[in-house]
Amino acid sequence: MAALEGKTAIVTGASSGIGAATAVALAREGARVAGGARRIDQLKTEITLELDVTDAESCERFVDTAIDELGGLDILVNNAGLGLGRDPFWESSEQDEETVLETDVHGLIRMTRLCLPHIRDGGHIVNMGSIAGRQAYENAAVYVASKFAVRGFTYALREDLLGRPIRLTTVDPGLVESNFSRVRFRGDEEKAKAPYEGVDPLRPEDVAECVLFAVTRPRHVNIDELVVKALAQSSPVRIARS
Ligand code: NAP
Repeated sequence: MAALEGKTAIVTGASSGIGAATAVALAREGARVAGGARRIDQLKTEITLELDVTDAESCERFVDTAIDELGGLDILVNNAGLGLGRDPFWESSEQDEETVLETDVHGLIRMTRLCLPHIRDGGHIVNMGSIAGRQAYENAAVYVASKFAVRGFTYALREDLLGRPIRLTTVDPGLVESNFSRVRFRGDEEKAKAPYEGVDPLRPEDVAECVLFAVTRPRHVNIDELVVKALAQSSPVRIARS
């Protein structure tokens, strides 16, 4: 029997990259998956629903409909996220800060709060962090802050959940080739390609396998944190390029 037969899952940011690959991996193991994103036409999950994690009403609507259609929830993957720009902090703007923090931090917290009452015993929350949430690097202050916040929130939530049968994992990837860089550099293809030049980066599927590993452990095993990097990467900025 597939490892997640009979289970249900919500994946935020399932329209691309890590979220899309995670949705595929969960479904492959038998889970019924509701995927959410703003680009609903890009969603390939069994249940596709529009979701803007920065918008409280959109999140409420999404969770209500997803739970209705899934008939309960076992796995929440809080994956939606983005960074904007690679500039010194003094070139940051109110609008960019709000977008990044609202998406990566508040969106994740909001979705967790809305989903928690529906998560069945034995359920699991997976938060997509980043190695940027473990080690700061230059010209990324707001993104770094957002991912440190994800790690802090996850640690604190673990304390609140202690004694309840809900597992909680953060997956912290390094360099992954996805749409992330295109979004970060606002569609500038040249800049978006540069981080992946001369290096064999992680693929979204590699990270999806980490999520799958965490959610398919025996019920008494909690994978607290999973850090996964390309072999040629030792830190957010130290990369051995050919
Ligand atoms: P991606 O290909 O750009 O995917 C990002 C996903 O987030 C998309 O599905 C996007 O969907 C969704 N999203 C963005 N804003 C949203 C919003 N307001 N509401 C709902 N969904 C939203 O990038 P990715 O690499 O897969 O990133 C996924 C996660 O991994 C992020 O949290 C990112 O910080 C993290 N991460 C990425 C890397 C990397 O190197 N790529 C490394 C470490 C961690 P729509 O645009 O359709 O809404």
